[in-house]
Amino acid sequence: MNEFLNELSQFGKVECNLPLSKMTTLRIGGNADYTVFPQNTVSLDSLVKLITQYGYPYKIIGKGSNLLCSDDDFHGVIIRLDEFNDFYFVNNQIVAQAGCSIISLSYEAMKHGKSGLEFASGIPGTVGGCTFMNAGAYKSSMSDVLDSVFVYRNGVFEWMSAADCEFSYRTSIFQKHPDWIVVAVKLNMIDKDVEEIRALMDSRRERRMASQPLDKPSAGSVFRNPESVPAWKLIEEIGYRGKKVGGAQVSEKHVNFIINAGDATAADFLELVHEIQEQVREKFGIELHLEVETFNWH
Ligand SMILES: Cc1cc2nc3c(=O)[nH]c(=O)nc-3n(C[C@H](O)[C@H](O)[C@H](O)COP(=O)(O)OP(=O)(O)OC[C@H]3O[C@@H](n4cnc5c(N)ncnc54)[C@H](O)[C@@H]3O)c2cc1C
Repeated sequence: MNEFLNELSQFGKVECNLPLSKMTTLRIGGNADYTVFPQNTVSLDSLVKLITQYGYPYKIIGKGSNLLCSDDDFHGVIIRLDEFNDFYFVNNQIVAQAGCSIISLSYEAMKHGKSGLEFASGIPGTVGGCTFMNAGAYKSSMSDVLDSVFVYRNGVFEWMSAADCEFSYRTSIFQKHPDWIVVAVKLNMIDKDVEEIRALMDSRRERRMASQPLDKPSAGSVFRNPESVPAWKLIEEIGYRGKKVGGAQVSEKHVNFIINAGDATAADFLELVHEIQEQVREKFGIELHLEVETFNWH
């Protein structure tokens, strides 16, 4: 066993050469040299310090539901916060660790008669990933419910007020500081009838099932919506519904989704993205920006 691996193993389970395709909902990506699952905040702190001391790059991956990883191997450390999955209710707040599934949390909130997370009940990410992305749906987003974020930055754990997190449409301060780690959040909720919350979540689940290709690997919406017009309308107008490059395909069901129709490579996906961007730019003079994040491209 090499010395680095030996030291890493002190802070949690370590896997070597785990495929990123198994850590992402798109099912695309090369292998990661190391993937570590720290046990708690103390081991997270020691782990980050160790990685930094060795000079390796690191990347947090939640559910990998917004990532397009390249086909190359990642010569660094993936940190997974799967062990950070505790949450509790205090008066009208939920305190949740970053590794919690936002879908499970929204269902728990519903069962406790706490309203606020209904919008998130179909978003397949973690609390940490959803905070990083300011994930949202149905005109609500994480920033509408976030009170504060417990962050690890520059070797220190501290609470940041949501007002300091620079949230806007699918954007947060965390995107400017990829070395910061969201460890937990405090969410403001309001009391509501359980059945009322359940009904809203049920109707939204049906809407999602009817409009999104949930049976195929994807990373959700590929492009951010420009201010003037939704991205899907532009993609529809250039005639790209169902368009394929290799194993990557514009979904027949939702044209702002690109699915892995079988053995898609990252290169296939990105080629299709570039084609769409070019055609939309030519036809409408509008720049489509990626909502999906590219990782490990050189
Ligand atoms: C079928 C489908 C439907 C979707 N629907 C929606 C939707 O309605 N609305 C929406 O906004 N998104 C949607 N998405 C996209 C995705 O679920 C969200 O962007 C989600 O926030 C990503 O969370 P994650 O845990 O999977 O993050 P990942 O994809 O694992 O990571 C995304 C980014 O967050 C960073 N990150 C993750 N955890 C942490 C942490 N603890 N601290 C610091 N950085 C962290 C990662 O390093 C990475 O840069 C959908 C995706 C799919 C596949």
